[in-house]
This record gives sequence, C-alpha cells and structure tokens, in this order.
Amino acid sequence: METKTIGIPRALFYYYLFPLWDVFFRELGYQVILAPTTDKRMVDLGIQKAVDEVCYPVKIYYGHVASLLDKVDYLFLPRLISIQRKSYICPKFMGLPDMIRANFSRLPAVIEHTFDGSRRKQGIKYDLEQLGLKLGHEPGAVKRACVKGLIALEEYQKALKQGQNPMTVLDSVKLVCREKRFKVGLLGHGYNIYDPYASMNIIEKLGKLGVETVTAENIDEKAVDQAAKVLPKRLFWTLGHRIVGSAFHLEQSEDIAGIIHVASFGCGPDSMVAELLERFLRRNGQKPFLSLTIDEHTGEAGLDTRLEAFVDMIARRKIS
Ligand code: SF4
Repeated sequence: METKTIGIPRALFYYYLFPLWDVFFRELGYQVILAPTTDKRMVDLGIQKAVDEVCYPVKIYYGHVASLLDKVDYLFLPRLISIQRKSYICPKFMGLPDMIRANFSRLPAVIEHTFDGSRRKQGIKYDLEQLGLKLGHEPGAVKRACVKGLIALEEYQKALKQGQNPMTVLDSVKLVCREKRFKVGLLGHGYNIYDPYASMNIIEKLGKLGVETVTAENIDEKAVDQAAKVLPKRLFWTLGHRIVGSAFHLEQSEDIAGIIHVASFGCGPDSMVAELLERFLRRNGQKPFLSLTIDEHTGEAGLDTRLEAFVDMIARRKIS
C-alpha cells in the first residue's frame, strides 16, 4: 500500500510539540513532510494570504501552509485549546484550521482535531488517541503510537531542560557563542525566538557578541511555577505563565546578567506579559531588561543597534 504523506508547518507549536506529532504519525505508517525553514518568500506568501489583523507568527504559519500545498496528501492542522490542566493556549490556535480554510481556496485533505488538555489529568493523551481512532487505525496501534510519541516529547523536553536549544535539537542549527562574556535570559514565544527568520537570528547575533542565552524551555517547570507565585493570580495562558515565571526565576539567578523579552506586534497576551515584566523587573531593578517587539516591518539594523547597546551596557556595569 502506498505510504500517505502528512504535511506539518515548521511554525507556531512546531517548537513545542513536533517530536510528538512526528513519532505518532510515523508509528501509524505515514510519512511526515515538514515545511522548509522560514524564508522571505514564505513570509510574503503568508502576508498575502492572511488577514492584516493577525500577528506575525500566524502570518508565518500561513506561509508554511502555502509551501506544503501540492506536496502532501494531508495537512495536519490541530486545533489547540490547551496542553495542560487549567492552562490555555492563545485563542488564535483554536481558530487556526478555520482561518486557514477561509483563506486558501485549495488545500490538501485537512486532518483537523481538537486538543484540550485542560479537562484531563493526562493532558492531551486522550485527544491524541481519539485522533488515531478517527483516522481509522486499530486501537492497539493507536495506543502504541501515543506512548511512543509521548516518550519522544518527554525526551525532547528533557534535552531542553538540560540546556539544549530547540533549534539545535529539531533543526540541527549549530549555535556558536564567541568568547563567552556572560549569560542573558531570552524570553518570548518559541515560534518567535527559535525561528531564525522571524527573530532575525537573535540567538546567533547574541552569540557573536559573546552572550550565551537561556530560554524559558531550559528552565524546570517547578522553578517557573514557584517564581510566578509573585503574581497575585496565575496567568491562564500556558506560554505567558512560562515566560513570566522564567523571567522572575532568572532575575534571581546570579549567573544571569540581563533579561530580554521578545514580543510580537499585535499580540494580546504578549502586550500584557511585556507590561508585567516591565513593571516587576524595572521596579526591582536587579537586572538590565530589554523589551523588543517584532513584526514583518522590523528593521534588522535597529535590532542590531539595540542588542549591541544592551550588551555594552551590561559589560560596563560588570566593569564598574
Ligand atoms: S500568543 Fe500572540 S503571537 Fe502567539 S499566536 Fe497568539 S496572538 Fe499570535
């Protein structure tokens, strides 16, 4: 029997869940086709297709979908509501399959499925099993694919906690830090900071300035939860909570010389997280803090200048 192909955009939750999708579908006998890494042509296509109001990462996702048309039998468009209990993903993820259908007149067969881990102790395992059954696979094979997929995800997350970067693990990007001078916390949605095109290679730029980066994905979740208790109420956005808790944790870490937050222009959750970080971190004044907002109009020269100024300022503080 001919192997069917499933296309997965290398965007949005790719940086969080790809090892799970990849192993799950391959175990069920599909060939997984990943969209290429983001480039200008893809972004331009995404901007043409998407409505103006959506954030930059969603426009990039559109570009990835466009790059997979005609290349796959199925397109996987998960409807992500939540990946853990009582914690939610931004509503844009819920509407993603509808937005893509509305803006593309011709798509491969779409595999759409809702993942709502907020309702169950075992997170998205139940929804994953339901997806396998919906695709017509026998229960035993689905269970095995789920177990293997979840193990792959756990191993990936463990590697990140041990200091690895999603770009290195998923995309084999070699990260070089020249003459390491100090470490800074680099916080933001993974699809902003780990996508070299979207972030204008921010991790590499910092590495060239002698700065090693620590991201939210490198920090243990218990430490994140503990640090986030400074807030009177837990943020209900999964990524917002992780970013804020990581910032507060890094603020207390002696080996961290400063914190950078990267937000998307037009992102509701980011605007609130950025405001919280500004208030708390600037008020405490323990670490230099840089807030950056990016979108398709951000100039690379401006970003370089701000990064260089921030790194110089930290270097001067260290000398004085
Ligand atoms: S959290 Fe912000 S950047 Fe991410 S998809 Fe939602 S609106 Fe876009």
